[in-house]
Amino acid sequence: MTTTTAADARPRSLTWRDSAACQGIEDPELFFPEAETATAIQEARRFCVQAGCPVITECLLAALEREGSAIPKFRYGVWGAAGPTDRYRLYLQARKDKAA
Ligand code: SF4
Repeated sequence: MTTTTAADARPRSLTWRDSAACQGIEDPELFFPEAETATAIQEARRFCVQAGCPVITECLLAALEREGSAIPKFRYGVWGAAGPTDRYRLYLQARKDKAA
């Protein structure tokens, strides 16, 4: 028996990924560089911003939700114009805000 979720029932064209500026990009490794150097992360972040990606927030929130409390070395790639360390800082800030 197959279980259908609300996400499955949603028309594919209504997902945020369909509006991503990086959709169809020839070099997807731009966002997942083998060596996550500051330069490589910066290059991917620059793409997100300069492309005027309309779903930066959705992309970032999806990554934060998926990664949970993971430390930076267990966060991969650039999502929502944010690298692993950026996202970890956002997670820590959100946790601090929640506790206040
Ligand atoms: S924010 Fe960057 S990685 Fe996320 S969908 Fe947009 S272009 Fe792609």
